[in-house]
Amino acid sequence: CGIVGYVGTRPSLGVLIGGLRRLEYRGYDSAGVAVIDGDGHLSTHKKAGKLAMLTDDLAASPIADGVTGIGHTRWATHGGPTDRNAHPHLGDDGKLALIHNGIIENFSALKDELLAEGYTFTSETDTEVAAVLLGHEYRATGDLTLAFRNIVDRLHGAFTLLALHQDQPGVVVGARRNSPLVIGLGDGENFLGSDVAAFVEHTRRAVAIGQDQIVTIRPDSIEVIDFAGNPVETEPFEVSWDA
Ligand code: GLU
Repeated sequence: CGIVGYVGTRPSLGVLIGGLRRLEYRGYDSAGVAVIDGDGHLSTHKKAGKLAMLTDDLAASPIADGVTGIGHTRWATHGGPTDRNAHPHLGDDGKLALIHNGIIENFSALKDELLAEGYTFTSETDTEVAAVLLGHEYRATGDLTLAFRNIVDRLHGAFTLLALHQDQPGVVVGARRNSPLVIGLGDGENFLGSDVAAFVEHTRRAVAIGQDQIVTIRPDSIEVIDFAGNPVETEPFEVSWDA
């Protein structure tokens, strides 16, 4: 339901939790984060219930912080509001984490296909199918943006997806169809959000991602392409309202 992503120089957990707080008004039943730490290792924590339950857990048993991260608040559509169904979901190598807003309408057919190929699932969500597919394509391409390009046409319905892979620290990739995604442009850091509230306390320069587009953010660059791989020109705007 709420999505935030960060690449830059600051420890990302504070940025992610702050962004998720600002998206709380949308309603949610679970929350989770994934961070790549300085050693290039992926850590995730996710929890059913209020954001405060996630932050209590993180205070009691901290995960390694790092400068690349994604955060999610979930409003369950497929699978009850449990810890296991909360996002992020992992690729089968445990090195890739993905979050999702929306509904993947054809997840059941895709899941059957992946089960037949020997993949296993740990949740009842539609989302995990996208995580497993993306992990599969990452292995084939070694590049998160390319991996996204190879899976988006297979996903029907509505989605804003964000993912990171521990072998590509300093990169967060997003894709959207029938669900919003906005870049926040920083100085040596960049943000992604399901709406500008996710990052407006850090920057008011933003770029709205168009329908059927993929965005790759790094600390010093942003790149947008369409689902066919063609470059898309971006037009920054200034967020003017009081968020
Ligand atoms: N359909 C996904 C799920 O149930 C995402 C729901 C959302 O938008 O938060 O996990």
